[in-house]
Amino acid sequence: MDCLFCKILAGEIPADIIYESDTAVAFRDINPQAPTHVLVIPRRHIATINDIEPGDTAIVGSLYLAAQEIAAAEGIAEDGYRAVMNCNEGAGQSVFHIHLHVLGGRPLLWPPG
Ligand code: 5GP
Ligand code: ZN
Repeated sequence: MDCLFCKILAGEIPADIIYESDTAVAFRDINPQAPTHVLVIPRRHIATINDIEPGDTAIVGSLYLAAQEIAAAEGIAEDGYRAVMNCNEGAGQSVFHIHLHVLGGRPLLWPPG
């Protein structure tokens, strides 16, 4: 399968991996938009939020537990951070393997652009 994030999971493309569990892996975004910008992905290939199935709920939940742990390790848990997932091109999704962006370390505006 021609998926960039599956290739990172397979070790075929290098990444700065900072977290691993049975179901999730996290690495630093190659083009960070904040002092902390980490992508949390499931080991299972799921293309978009629209493709999440009822049996994936534990996997998807584990992405948030990863985000929680990463935020604490990065020292941004108390000040605040954003954990956001884009769905399809209209929302800015460019890699079609779901990923939670964990952003923090600077003030974050709302609503996003
Ligand atoms: P999306 O636009 O799909 O929500 O987010 C994709 C993210 O993946 C972008 O923030 C982009 O910078 C990041 N990205 C794209 N290619 C690579 C890569 O090869 N390595 C890493 N670490 N991040 C990548
Ligand atoms: Zn994939």
